[in-house]
Amino acid sequence: HAKATDTNRYMFFERLMNEQATRHMLIKSALRRALDRNEFVLHYQPRVTLKTMSICGMEALIRWDHPDLGMISPAEFIPIAEDSGLIGAIGHWVLDEACRHTRHLNETTDCRLSVSVNLSAQQLRDAEVVTQVAEVLEKWQLPAELLELELTETALVKDMDRSADVLKKLKSLGVLLSVDDFGTGYSGLSYLKRFPMDILKLDRSFITQQPEGITGHEFIKALVDMAHALKLSVVAEGIENKDLLRLVQECACDEGQGYYLSKPMPFSSLKEFVLKHHNVE
Ligand code: C2E
Ligand code: MG
Ligand code: MG
Ligand code: MG
Repeated sequence: HAKATDTNRYMFFERLMNEQATRHMLIKSALRRALDRNEFVLHYQPRVTLKTMSICGMEALIRWDHPDLGMISPAEFIPIAEDSGLIGAIGHWVLDEACRHTRHLNETTDCRLSVSVNLSAQQLRDAEVVTQVAEVLEKWQLPAELLELELTETALVKDMDRSADVLKKLKSLGVLLSVDDFGTGYSGLSYLKRFPMDILKLDRSFITQQPEGITGHEFIKALVDMAHALKLSVVAEGIENKDLLRLVQECACDEGQGYYLSKPMPFSSLKEFVLKHHNVE
């Protein structure tokens, strides 16, 4: 009897592994054609200045709408794109599309919104990204200070010397650099001395789950003060409700993002949102 159960269990896992391997292979081969077939689209999540609650910019988030597989999350296909050497081309498309949209948005709404683009660890290994960024800024005549590049802590510390070199070159173009998902990886501030960062994005999990013993408020406040002392501005991610909004406001975070403020949306809906939520000074 035990043997039969073991066999069943084995077959179950084998099938699961096969399914996963098949999906992985499907995605990998479909990814090669996705750019040519225009299957990617960018959605935008507004970012808000917490003092005034007006929109100051947005984060570009890639979506892949595959004709058979449906919507595939970037969390699933970006790692595969990195492994198969496709991230350079996809990342280039994201930069180009995000700058094109932002230029158009600012022109038609008379705003000066900034856009942030996520860079993967792999993109940071290759100085080609510096040329790509310089080219798209020139192409769309977007002021460099309106483009922000987000790097996760893990991407930064993977190959510190190489990252520091590429980031220095990016920084010299005039773009802003932020640490994404801060609080989920290495979680120190001292290694940041090696990189010319401007912004710290506190991860959602960091804001919602706090260590025991001290209150969340004190912990976040101390970190924000420290970041400010290091001339970093702070963005709170994952603001999902009114209480979290109050918390990050009380902690003097500079800007915020989250479902409570707005979910990511297609570019076609962004303009209307901006016109409604942008304070005219
Ligand atoms: P991220 O850069 O940290 O982006 C934030 C993610 O959290 C997004 O998921 C966003 O939709 C989601 N989010 C925003 N507000 C809330 C909230 O209040 N609650 C919750 N539960 N989630 C919230 P998404 O779009 O699925 O992206 C996942 C990750 O994929 C991103 O994390 C980023 O690391 C990566 N990614 C997305 N677009 C790109 C891209 O163009 N290039 C690269 N290299 N990576 C990308
Ligand atoms: Mg991000
Ligand atoms: Mg993040
Ligand atoms: Mg994240």
